[in-house]
Amino acid sequence: MATQIPLPNITRVLPAQQKALKKLGIETAEDLLYHFPVRYGDTASVRTIDSLVSKESAVIFGKVSQLKTSKGFRSKIPMGEATITDDTGSIKAVWFHQPYIAKMIHEGAFVRVEGKLSLRKGALYLSNPKIETVVHIPIGVGSSLFGKDGLAHTLYPVYPESRGVTSNWIYHALQKIFKMRVLDEYVDPIPKELLTKYNLPSLKTALIWIHTPQKESDALAARKRFAFEEIFFIQLEKQKEKLEWKKNKSFVIEPKKEDVDRFTKNFPFPLTSAQEKSINHILSDFKKGHPMSRLLEGDVGSGKTAVAATAVYTVATTRPTGQSFGNLQTAYMVPTEILAQQHFESFIQYFFGSGIQIGLITGSGCKKFPSKINPDGWTDISRSQLLKWVANGEIPVLIGTHALIQKTVRFKHLALAIIDEQHRFGTLQRQKLREKEILTPHLLSMTATPIPRTLALTIYGDLDLSLLDEMPVGRKPIITDIVLPHHREETYEKIRSELKVGRQMYVICPRIDEPDPTKENALATKSVKEEAKRIKKDIFPEYEIDILHSKMKPTEKERVMEDFKNGKIDILVATSVVEVGVNVPNATIIIIEGGERFGLAQLHQLRGRVIRSSHQAYCFVFSDTKTKKSVERLSALKKAENGFKLAEYDLAQRGSGELSGKKQWGLTDIGMEAIKNIKMVEAARLEATKIIEKDSQLKTFPLLKERMESQKQKIHFE
Ligand code: ADP
Ligand code: MG
Repeated sequence: MATQIPLPNITRVLPAQQKALKKLGIETAEDLLYHFPVRYGDTASVRTIDSLVSKESAVIFGKVSQLKTSKGFRSKIPMGEATITDDTGSIKAVWFHQPYIAKMIHEGAFVRVEGKLSLRKGALYLSNPKIETVVHIPIGVGSSLFGKDGLAHTLYPVYPESRGVTSNWIYHALQKIFKMRVLDEYVDPIPKELLTKYNLPSLKTALIWIHTPQKESDALAARKRFAFEEIFFIQLEKQKEKLEWKKNKSFVIEPKKEDVDRFTKNFPFPLTSAQEKSINHILSDFKKGHPMSRLLEGDVGSGKTAVAATAVYTVATTRPTGQSFGNLQTAYMVPTEILAQQHFESFIQYFFGSGIQIGLITGSGCKKFPSKINPDGWTDISRSQLLKWVANGEIPVLIGTHALIQKTVRFKHLALAIIDEQHRFGTLQRQKLREKEILTPHLLSMTATPIPRTLALTIYGDLDLSLLDEMPVGRKPIITDIVLPHHREETYEKIRSELKVGRQMYVICPRIDEPDPTKENALATKSVKEEAKRIKKDIFPEYEIDILHSKMKPTEKERVMEDFKNGKIDILVATSVVEVGVNVPNATIIIIEGGERFGLAQLHQLRGRVIRSSHQAYCFVFSDTKTKKSVERLSALKKAENGFKLAEYDLAQRGSGELSGKKQWGLTDIGMEAIKNIKMVEAARLEATKIIEKDSQLKTFPLLKERMESQKQKIHFE
């Protein structure tokens, strides 16, 4: 196959280039064809130096020489100077008051210069132009592509580069590949009807357009096609998985409505209609005899636990098939010990009086409710004892950290696996929890990851979605403030008045210990220990202050959380360990130090700690950032009313290339572009679902089948 010809058989590849290509993962003609430009430059506004005219603005490309700094002859103004040269001539550039510019560029560098032309003593020069170094001079500049007017009219592709492999080199290698008619070997895997329906170019056309577009709309159409293709194939895969998964058998759980109602009436609050809807989704899945695969997505504080607890209750009150005794079991996995402990306590409350036993397993110990001696409380038990009771089915509800998925943990009748904060776990851990049984357990995955809906539809395409898109009533929107250093004092005073009426506060610091002062930059970051001391001494001496971080012993952590919950501690200075799930409704204020060090999603999660009751909540993001952009980014927190909106803002803000979609979600940059487009994602999902529903084995779509199999192999090799 010509597509698999190694590049050195097509064009000259120097040893250094060979190395660079390897780094980019490019070996064959096909690899290069699928190495897409990151953007396109437009040479239409680029001029040759000999065509420049005074008082006009222009962009030129050239080589730098005669860099120097100087002072104005009479004015004594400090200046930077350079000469820019292209094939047609040279011109001087001058930067008044910015002599340092001459130090930022190197002699001989290729640069792009944009600015206004001035005339002085009969000579043209560029005054205070924008200048940036470029890896190469774009194709067409200074060559025959320019017309007589000195203007070029073409788009030039700019590729992700590596030393030695310039965009220019790639361009020329691709020209050779095109001439070899390699493209003729490709058969488009996407059905023609779809290309026509969505107005997408064929594979061959798209490959040509993406590398050598004649106009912008061609380049866009090509990118759109590849984006669609990527999402479409992910959806085919996910929809196929989903269909196959549903063929497995599971326990049928069909509780009486009045039992469910009685249980939910016991919550100290009425359910929101979103919670009720989600519970109904789950109960209708439970009836089917095939495994549920459901993602419960809801912003922090939207009340996912109550939904999960109701599902757990119906499972724990159902007998195993054909048995008149015993209960079905649930494994409830959470990412941290603090959270496991907290869920254990809430479940004791919710299940009180039901006679249902609850177990807790973490790395540092095991517990069981109720205790034999004290039927109203829990007791510490040995791991082996707990495992025995889980294995013989006596304990129907087991809550735990990843200690839950160890081989030694065996269930008798595992019917439901719940994963809380599922984004915290790897795919493998998630699978493990489910693989424990012969009958496939129902799966309830929960997340507050504020990811855009389009992304959720794509990467969780194999799951059914329930959304908690409604907050419990009475929650006031949180007041968020970005506090710069000069407002610190007045902010503390505002906080004091809240503490006075009995509210509690978190202070989040980026570090645990005071940094080694010899380490650069480290001093600027506040540490938990020092900040706790400082606050006690200088700011809030009248309040009880304690600390919490990941290096503390589990028993210490538990004690601190307990004291904070009971109000013995007023101010908890902590690292981001409190980020997930921790629930202390009376804590309504959170200070986040060094706000610029956190991602927006993480800040939102942290702020979620204090949106848990009907009291007014406050979030103060302290930052000493000096850049406007950074403050602007943080300010998005003030505007976005929920995590989803914030995620969408984040997505829109980031350009492609920075999205690291590959690392996080297995998507290419082009795929991430598609994620910005709800219509495209929905179309790809719709078409893939239609095809799989019609013909899950793809017998009538041999091209799709082949492509999916080779795709799988590729992933396998990586
Ligand atoms: P998350 O979705 O972040 O896991 P939680 O389940 O921890 O949220 O619930 C957050 C807080 O809201 C808890 O204090 C919980 O008791 C309370 N809560 C849950 N549902 C409701 C409701 N319908 N009305 C009022 N408060 C609720
Ligand atoms: Mg939660």
